[in-house]
Amino acid sequence: MKERDYRQYKGVWALGEVRDGEIHPVSFELLAWGRGLADKLSVDLSIVIIGSHIKDKVKELIPRGADKVYVIDHPALEHFRIDPFSAILTTMVEEYKPEILIASATSMGRTIMPVMAVKLDAGLTADCTGLDIDLEERLLIQTRPAVGGNIMATIKTPVLRPQMSTVRPKSKRPLPVDHSRKGEILVKEFSGEFLTSRVKRLAFIREEAIGAPIQDAEYIVAFGKGLKDSKHVELMKELAQVFNGSLGASRNATDLGWISYSHQVGLSGKTVSPRLYIAAGISGAVQHLAGMSSAEIIIAINSDPDANIFGVADYGIVGDLFEVIPLLIKKLKEKAKEA
Ligand SMILES: Cc1cc2nc3c(=O)[nH]c(=O)nc-3n(C[C@H](O)[C@H](O)[C@H](O)COP(=O)(O)OP(=O)(O)OC[C@H]3O[C@@H](n4cnc5c(N)ncnc54)[C@H](O)[C@@H]3O)c2cc1C
Repeated sequence: MKERDYRQYKGVWALGEVRDGEIHPVSFELLAWGRGLADKLSVDLSIVIIGSHIKDKVKELIPRGADKVYVIDHPALEHFRIDPFSAILTTMVEEYKPEILIASATSMGRTIMPVMAVKLDAGLTADCTGLDIDLEERLLIQTRPAVGGNIMATIKTPVLRPQMSTVRPKSKRPLPVDHSRKGEILVKEFSGEFLTSRVKRLAFIREEAIGAPIQDAEYIVAFGKGLKDSKHVELMKELAQVFNGSLGASRNATDLGWISYSHQVGLSGKTVSPRLYIAAGISGAVQHLAGMSSAEIIIAINSDPDANIFGVADYGIVGDLFEVIPLLIKKLKEKAKEA
C-alpha cells in the first residue's frame, strides 16, 4: 500500500454519468452528497463527465452544486467501457489529487471504482447509504449496511488517498437548481491509447419492462413470496398498469424466478424512493426495508397482522392479497373513469 502525504490531496470529486447522450440524474444526486462534504471541508466540489457530444449539456451541473466541471468529450467515449474511462480518470486523479472521490453505485460506478482503487492503490467503500465528514480528523465517514443488513457500519480511510466510495442511487435527493451559482467548465483532451479498449460494444438490448426502471419510478407495486406462483404476476402487472407504475419484488420472488433480478428491491437489489410503494405478500425483512423505507407513502397488504412490513407502512391492509388486489384494481378503474 502506498501511504501518501495526504496534505497534498484536496477537494471533493464526483464521477458523473451520461446515458443516451444526457447527463444522468445520479450525477445530480452525487453533487448533493458532494456539496455537503465539500462545504464541511471548505474545499471545491468538482465533477468529471466523460462522454460524447456532451459539452453543451454539462452547464446544468453548476446550478446543481458543482464548482468545477471537468469534461472529456470524444466520440470514442460515447458508451462506458472500462479501459478508456479508468485510464482517463486515474490520470486525472493522479494529476489533481482530490482527497475524496465518489461515484454512484450503478453498473458503471460498481465497475469502475474497484478498478480505480486497484490502479490508485487506494481504499474503497462500496454501496454507501450515508456520507459525512469527521471534521476533527478531516476524514470521510462512510456508512453502509453490513452483516446482512443487520448493522450499519461506519468506515473511515485514514491512510490512503483518495478516500473512495460508491453511494446508492436515490439515497439523496438532488439539490434545487440555483442559477445564481458560479462555476468553471474545464475541457480536458485525451487521445491515442487513452481511448483504446479491449472491449467492443456489439449492441444494447433493453429488457422488456413494465413502467420505468424501478430506481426511477414514482409508483411501484411490489410483491413477495405471498404471491404463491409466477402465474399471479399478471395480477400485479394489472395493478401496476392502473398507476402507470413499475413492478418491484422481494428477493424471494426474484430467487424463485417469478421476475428478473432488475426488479429486486432491497439490500442486494435496488434502492427506490417512489411517491407510492405498494408491498403485497412481502414480510418486510430488514434487507427488503433497506431498499424502500424512504418511499413517500407505503401501503402494505399482508394476511399476517404481525408482519414486519406494517412497521414501516403508512397504510396497512390485513387481508388476502388475492381478494384485496382485484378489489383495488376495480375501484381504481372506476375512479379513473369518473375523472
Ligand atoms: C445478505 C442478504 C441480502 C438480502 N437482500 C435482500 C433484498 O435485496 N431484497 C429482499 O427483499 N430480501 C433480501 N434478502 C432476503 C430477506 O431476508 C427475506 O428473506 C426476503 O425479503 C423475504 O421475502 P418475502 O417477504 O417475499 O418472503 P416471506 O418472508 O416468505 O414473506 C411472505 C409474506 O407473504 C405473506 N402472505 C402469504 N400469503 C399471503 C396472501 N395470500 N396475502 C397476503 N399476504 C400473504 C406472509 O404473511 C408473509 O409475510 C436478503 C437476505 C440476506 C441474508
